[in-house]
Amino acid sequence: MDENRSPKLATQAVHKGEISVLGTPHTPLFNTTTFAFETTHALLDVVDGKTPGPLYTRYGMNPSITALEEKLASLEGAERALLFASGMAAEAATFLALGQKGILCIGDAYGGTMELLGVQLRELGIRVEFILGSELNKLDNLLSTHFSLVFFETPTNPTLEIFDIESISQKAKKAGALTAIDSTFATPVNQNPLSLGADLVIHSATKYMGGHSDITAGAVMGNAELISKILPWRKNLGQVASPETAALLARSLRSLVQRVSWQNASAMQIAEALSTHAKIKKVYYPGLTSFEGHALAKKQMRAFGGMMTIELKGNLQETTRFADRLKIFKLAPSLGGVESLATQPVTTTHHGLSAEERQRRNITDSMVRLSIGLEDSDDLLDDLTQALSSL
Ligand SMILES: *Cc1c(COP(=O)(O)O)cnc(C)c1O
Repeated sequence: MDENRSPKLATQAVHKGEISVLGTPHTPLFNTTTFAFETTHALLDVVDGKTPGPLYTRYGMNPSITALEEKLASLEGAERALLFASGMAAEAATFLALGQKGILCIGDAYGGTMELLGVQLRELGIRVEFILGSELNKLDNLLSTHFSLVFFETPTNPTLEIFDIESISQKAKKAGALTAIDSTFATPVNQNPLSLGADLVIHSATKYMGGHSDITAGAVMGNAELISKILPWRKNLGQVASPETAALLARSLRSLVQRVSWQNASAMQIAEALSTHAKIKKVYYPGLTSFEGHALAKKQMRAFGGMMTIELKGNLQETTRFADRLKIFKLAPSLGGVESLATQPVTTTHHGLSAEERQRRNITDSMVRLSIGLEDSDDLLDDLTQALSSL
């Protein structure tokens, strides 16, 4: 092996940031809120930041947390990562730390994100503007009105829209704004926004990173200077995740590459099969060459992920009947776990929007979003096919 070559993602996912204690192969759980010191002098050195070291868990200064953060940073090729109690906590701290002079949100975003930006942050007097993917021609003009932060998801939920990370980050930078990408759908296995010029990448670790639908957590990665601006907000809003969660998330990340690679392959097979099914109007999946965002996805992603949305040839009732007939797919609004999930955006993730707003966002009554899990893809396809036969 070339001595200068840095280890690839799967190797980093297993080994990066692990601390061995008494021979443990990985970081043990430091289930403690505080750490004791031999002398006041030694305590002050840590408090003053002269020596790194564990101190108090809410500050994130707990080895279960800092070891995990080293792994998280390495997965995105970042200098530093911060662990949060949820994806929303990570977004909130980032927006509050870096978005005070205005936030521009591009495209569709997670429901909680839309509410945080559109309601709570505006209540604080922060200027927040939204533009849809179909309005990108307004981007240059809008950017000239000065924002401190540009934020978007890619791929988006639920229409898997793809935004050009490199081009938008460059435009934002020229206009004096930072760019933060919610890369939850892509995972670090399929996309690294920082290498494409984004300043920060945010993950809901509740999804693929946790991967087993048993952890709520979030993360932000970026350069050390930007991360140091987000850190005091996490600390004083008390947003860090517990050491137990950190240890579970580290456990999950060790198999992230294998899980996501399997999900990529299964999703591709299922998307291709469904795209020619007589009862399906359209499959929204970036891996399909017929999909609008495919060329861009191919440019900035290594593979296309485990999420897709299918649009049935049927009305709301028929679509609900299809969803209810699924046996292996569970009806639940989350994603990224080992179990396959199905959800109708109209009844869950986008239920709160008016019919006009859904139409503006291209979200129809006949859509079902699928999160492809780790079951055998032939079984998943059989399940979808038997449910489609009810239409
Ligand atoms: C789930 C999700 C979030 C919010 O994450 P939580 O961990 O539930 O707070 C943010 N963005 C995307 C794309 C998500 O799917």
